[in-house]
Amino acid sequence: MYDLSINNIINRITKVDAKIVGIQFPDGLKTHATNMAREIEDKTDAEVIISADACFGACDTPDAKLIEFTDLLIHFGHTPLPLKYKTPVMFVEAYSQIDVKDSLNKALNLLKNYNDIGLATTTQHLHLLEEISDFLKVNNKNVVVSKGQSTRLGQVLGCNFSSIKNLDVDAYLFIGSGNFHPLGIKLFTNAPVVIADPYMAEARLIDDFADRILRIRFARIVKAREAKKWGILVSSKEGQYRMNLARNIKKSLIDLGFEAFIIMMENISPDNLLPYSDIDSFVVTACPRIAIDDSNMYKKPLITPQELEIVLNKRDWENYQLDEINFIDNQ
Ligand code: SF4
Repeated sequence: MYDLSINNIINRITKVDAKIVGIQFPDGLKTHATNMAREIEDKTDAEVIISADACFGACDTPDAKLIEFTDLLIHFGHTPLPLKYKTPVMFVEAYSQIDVKDSLNKALNLLKNYNDIGLATTTQHLHLLEEISDFLKVNNKNVVVSKGQSTRLGQVLGCNFSSIKNLDVDAYLFIGSGNFHPLGIKLFTNAPVVIADPYMAEARLIDDFADRILRIRFARIVKAREAKKWGILVSSKEGQYRMNLARNIKKSLIDLGFEAFIIMMENISPDNLLPYSDIDSFVVTACPRIAIDDSNMYKKPLITPQELEIVLNKRDWENYQLDEINFIDNQ
């Protein structure tokens, strides 16, 4: 179902004469790990070590010990970010081979009242953008695709929507699974967003999901207004580490008379926060998806820096936005 470019991998390992190679997959691709390791060890002189830790994006390279150990890390499923990685990293994008035609045909019906269409997708389908663009043009649509800061042409990340902002279009078409990316497109543009989901072989609008999420976020913000003691969460992951932001948040909370503490960990999880039961509310400066996707797993409000601005009356609810990471300024 995925093209993992084995020949390019073998060529790169041979070229740099890597003796120890780390391989890292997101959860959805981890079942390919042992086959990949066997193939590399059969076709090169390298020893392969598989990273079993969770991996959610290119922001998330493995454990420091593994990095120290390897000559080359092969990271599957994501495009590179402008980060300084501590070991040479080869990114293998793992394009999905799933057929998108069915969902595209269904999406056409939902786009029937719009002419100028902004196109966006995630890494797995980037190779189909030209084909999808041609399909829309044949069906009398004007297509706009733009490159973002730190992202490829038409690519959106859960923490970076720069490729779809400020496009002069009537509606957006997102190709992929899940609702988080189209939710971001909706919130950053306020335009109609149609999802062509090839995994469900369906097309749908994002509106119902967006309404549901906004209601949940509003409830979290209302609850967070009661907090007196705040925890500001920082992740030590390479691309999610935003200590400057955390310090600024801490200072502004203390200036307003609150208690505030910076709490650092690699993986932000409900279990890791359990000992801090004296804290009333948390602000998460790590991956922006944590507060939104995992919201129900946390007993205390866990909010984004932008949501904190609403709590502190520095931003209107009408200007609600998702958090984004600017990887360039973050270095
Ligand atoms: S910060 Fe989150 S959304 Fe951004 S690349 Fe990492 S895992 Fe993905």
